[in-house]
Amino acid sequence: MKYVVVSGGVLSGLGKGVTASSIGVLLKSAGLRVTSLKIDPYLNSDAGTMSPFEHGEVFVLDDGGEVDLDLGNYERFLDINLGKDNNVTTGKIYSKVIEAERRGDYLGKTVQVIPHITDAVQDWLEEVAHRPADGSELAPDACIIELGGTVGDIESAPYIEALRQFQFRVGRENVTFVHVSLVPVMGPVGEQKTKPTQHTVKELRGLGITPDILVCRSSTPLTKETREKLAAFCHVSPEAVMSTHDVPNIYHVPLMLEEQGLCDIMNLDCQATDLLNNWKIMAHHLDTLTDEVQIAMVGKYTDLSDAYLSVIKSLQHAAMAVDHKLTINWIEASHLESDWENSSENEKAWALLKQSSGVLVPGGFGDRGVEGKILAAEYARTSSTPYLGICLGLQVATIEFCRNVLGFEDSNSTEFDENCKNPAVVFMPEISKTHLGGTMRLGSRPTLWQVDDCKIRHLYGEGDSVDERHRHRYEVNPDMIEAIESAGLVFVGKDETGQRCEIFELDGHPYYVGVQYHPEFKSRPGRPSPPFLGLLKASTGQL
Ligand code: GLN
Repeated sequence: MKYVVVSGGVLSGLGKGVTASSIGVLLKSAGLRVTSLKIDPYLNSDAGTMSPFEHGEVFVLDDGGEVDLDLGNYERFLDINLGKDNNVTTGKIYSKVIEAERRGDYLGKTVQVIPHITDAVQDWLEEVAHRPADGSELAPDACIIELGGTVGDIESAPYIEALRQFQFRVGRENVTFVHVSLVPVMGPVGEQKTKPTQHTVKELRGLGITPDILVCRSSTPLTKETREKLAAFCHVSPEAVMSTHDVPNIYHVPLMLEEQGLCDIMNLDCQATDLLNNWKIMAHHLDTLTDEVQIAMVGKYTDLSDAYLSVIKSLQHAAMAVDHKLTINWIEASHLESDWENSSENEKAWALLKQSSGVLVPGGFGDRGVEGKILAAEYARTSSTPYLGICLGLQVATIEFCRNVLGFEDSNSTEFDENCKNPAVVFMPEISKTHLGGTMRLGSRPTLWQVDDCKIRHLYGEGDSVDERHRHRYEVNPDMIEAIESAGLVFVGKDETGQRCEIFELDGHPYYVGVQYHPEFKSRPGRPSPPFLGLLKASTGQL
């Protein structure tokens, strides 16, 4: 097993996850089976209870793990399926050690960060790295381990120590340390500044880890002088200083690293498969798309697009498949509401919605903006504009239908109005009312087709069922289903009990589809998720 450990310095948000995934692509292109682990040094057990405002989206795995969005990058870049244990957190490690202490495993000993926590981290990394991830039964040949946060944070110190020890456990020759840093470009002549990188490498080396490769994020390609200076001050060879400068799309990142000789440094024959060639074609295809398609995203965290990362990626995968350049019109849902205090924002939001060829209402929690999302669903339904509702997006469209088609004016979800008399959406009976962490209906579950002929079934193709990932507490009210269906909104997919609504499609509309699950977590470049593909096809007149 070869390990690539990716750490970061200077500041967060340098694209460490994309760099790490891109290195994974290079390993894979050399014919290796690749897996990955992400270490998040926070105390939460998992990302499930964290706000997308702060951390970006919560990514959901097949096994129901609610994890950091970087695991989504790994799944998409490497076309693998990970499990919740591929995301290590301080919460998980400490729980495990404390449980062992209570069992008496350390009887007689004082339990300490070194060696008990650091050993637990290493055991975890080594065991999970060997789990198959590519759908085969075979153990991976290589594992990318990404350390979240920046070197020097108090929280990450035990992990740096664990990784320092790890190189002796698995053999120094089997570990490549990659440090991602920032090279700011300053002043009128655009001078590339190396000092922040010098400092972060000094800090890392002070903790006992000497990076083999430096990856420097910069707005412009690193000059020869900058590389040489970094090499001299950071104890790496000039060839091992990589530049990840701004590129038109992220598919260029693995290509850019390969062009700079990363494969040679890591002794990889990256032409052993056609993978890189396919990436080249993809990157070029995306660069050369000219016809535009505008999709309205009616959500809540519209000023922080990381909150919808997988939805954006899925839209891009689908747009590429229909040969269109994607423009997302971000619409803050509450701005659509008629009583929104700022009328120019209200007008702007409606104009954006109306100029879009398709409408997407993504998942969400809490009541802010819900009425605006309901208005967006109504607009799409009545104007024959293609609509895709995901999770909450399915729920708001159902509420809208109950209010405006069935005439239940007060219809709502009990999430937003507990005492509502005609609830269209209700709390699911099996969900905990006392604990919020890890208690939703989570992970991959089957949806069984209820009808033979509908658009969404054709998009999914063969098979009696589809497996997609879930994350919700509420569902369409089973008592309302009959009335809703008889008015034309048909629940064409249901869960294995035949009771719970999973997919709806509106009769006689070009494309009005809602899904209770989150298809965005399984979309891949070159293999777009069917509900998204349907939205893009319908929005470009290709359905
Ligand atoms: N808040 C809704 C529920 O819990 C929708 C969740 C979501 O969109 N992920 O059912």
